[in-house]
Amino acid sequence: MTKEERAAYHKEYRNLHKAEFAAYAKKYYKKHRAELNAYHKDYYKSNQAEVIAYAKKYYKKHKAELNAYNKDYYKSNKAEAAAYHKEYYNKHKEELNACKKDYYKENRAEVIARRKDYKRLNPEKVKAHGILNQAVKKGEIIKQPCSICGKLKAEAHHPDYSEPLNVIWLCRSHHFTLHAEMKG
Ligand SMILES: [Zn+2]
Ligand SMILES: [Zn+2]
Repeated sequence: MTKEERAAYHKEYRNLHKAEFAAYAKKYYKKHRAELNAYHKDYYKSNQAEVIAYAKKYYKKHKAELNAYNKDYYKSNKAEAAAYHKEYYNKHKEELNACKKDYYKENRAEVIARRKDYKRLNPEKVKAHGILNQAVKKGEIIKQPCSICGKLKAEAHHPDYSEPLNVIWLCRSHHFTLHAEMKG
């Protein structure tokens, strides 16, 4: 048997017994799950730097494909992805919030400095938002759903900061899209 013949034979054999192989792998995994997970964890722990370096290298090399794949996947599974994110958030809400709080605690000075910087760099924006928030609180302006998709949770977009009460209500993602379009 030549090398090619042997390879073809193996391939055929694997194809013929695909289902059995998969079932066997599944069974094996189920039986040894704890050990396998412990092994992977251990391996990761003791080779963390290499694993990360490898993942980084892999990502760099296959960036375009991975991004295209992710985009495609996200596009065709948008609803599921959104539901998954929501579920994930709800499930891990406390941890996520605790993490945020911790971050704030540890980086308090930076967070405050960043906020100050933001205010200094965007005085008109901050002022307009302040005036608008007051008007919303007083009931002079009523918050509206996203004017594009109708999502109830919307934020105010100012076409012109010198008119603080002249706003367009947009959900997070449409607001983001609008700014991205304005930039490009
Ligand atoms: Zn929207
Ligand atoms: Zn905006």
